[in-house]
Amino acid sequence: MNSADLSRRRDAVSPRGVSSATAIYAARAQGAELWDVEGRRYIDFAAGIAVLNTGHNHPRVRAAAIAQIEQFSHVCFQVTPYEPYLALAERLNAVVPTKGPRKTLFVTTGAEAVENAVKIARYATKRSGVIAFAGGFHGRTFMAMALTGKVSPYKLGFGPLPAETYHLPFPNPLHGVTLDDSLRSLDTLFRSDLDPGRVAAIVIEPIQGEGGFHVAPPALLRRLRSLCDEHGIVLVVDEIQTGFARTGQLFACEHAGIEPDLITMAKALGGGFPLAAVTGLATTMDSVGPGGLGGTFGGSPVGCAAGLAVLKVIEEERLIERARAIGDILRERLGMFAEQSRGAIAEVRGMGAMMAIELVQRGESSCVPDADRTKAVIARAAQHGLVILSCGVWSNVIRLLPPLTASDTVLQEGLDRLERALRDEGVLVS
Ligand code: PMP
Repeated sequence: MNSADLSRRRDAVSPRGVSSATAIYAARAQGAELWDVEGRRYIDFAAGIAVLNTGHNHPRVRAAAIAQIEQFSHVCFQVTPYEPYLALAERLNAVVPTKGPRKTLFVTTGAEAVENAVKIARYATKRSGVIAFAGGFHGRTFMAMALTGKVSPYKLGFGPLPAETYHLPFPNPLHGVTLDDSLRSLDTLFRSDLDPGRVAAIVIEPIQGEGGFHVAPPALLRRLRSLCDEHGIVLVVDEIQTGFARTGQLFACEHAGIEPDLITMAKALGGGFPLAAVTGLATTMDSVGPGGLGGTFGGSPVGCAAGLAVLKVIEEERLIERARAIGDILRERLGMFAEQSRGAIAEVRGMGAMMAIELVQRGESSCVPDADRTKAVIARAAQHGLVILSCGVWSNVIRLLPPLTASDTVLQEGLDRLERALRDEGVLVS
């Protein structure tokens, strides 16, 4: 089996709408490392898109999943419920920083968590409007797609989209969008188009993930919290990419000190098994009547067993502190790269172990995104044995999401490989 054969088979059987960032066909993975079908070793700074915070195949997560499979792998919570679902709900209710007391709903994917958060917010408020942010990403199902703030490729050609969704600019100082611009747009929306009394929810990522690792200013989250309180709007914080220690807090909204009404979670929660959740104020969560929420695989026993192990590993291996230390290492090296880039790296940004560099065209007076070079660096990094991803509305941001279990040695080795790729592609010049 080699990658070229697999690529040919892939093209024959799999629709091109599902694209892959690399042609590295995975055969085995452990911790922060991955081996392809030809035995080549890679350092994995994509972590399955922020899923492997506890690393590939963490022995405790693996053992918990296997132990559950030995009992049963599926019965459906809506038919014969089971304890691991309750145990994980209890754990999340204890640690998720929403207003309390809390309840938790389990589903299977991030998009589904967002769909359900909107359903719950609409039911609880008996209102229909939903506000989200330009550049945001919330998934590919219909409501999640409507809330996603990027037309191509996510929304193009898929309409009609659900009505009554609105987008505000997300602060992005590098490209001239200030916090005041965002707040003024909200004020204008409320005055010109939308009675706040018709808004069910505001949905925001505390750090835009797919949108380019833009950190929401704490003042924006705090202002949204107070506006939601004033108008009876449900504040939904989408922590699907930022959650579970990634940013140096268990949840990124904790950095701003706000309590959302609902939090959506997925990705790292299941430690590699498909699991997603919505946690929030019990009265809001309980507004929907029996049968209004759920799904055949929602809160799968194996996912819940893995999720319990993930939370234990985060605590016992002190991964929140580790994410901060990784963040310091990344910021230092990326800062050095920026200095050697003569303006081609316009910004190093992020929080904790969620860090990115933005590539722009050198010598332009304003920031002109350089998507081509970004793509070339990512392809070159793959040749050097490093898996990384792009992001950003102009696809010109390189994001680093290493497993939080990665050792300093592996981290530095990954950064050395990134440095080589940046140098090969002319981003680093001194
Ligand atoms: N919200 C955010 C913030 C995400 O980053 C993603 C996935 N990248 C989603 C929602 C959608 O999650 P999923 O792909 O599991 O549906």
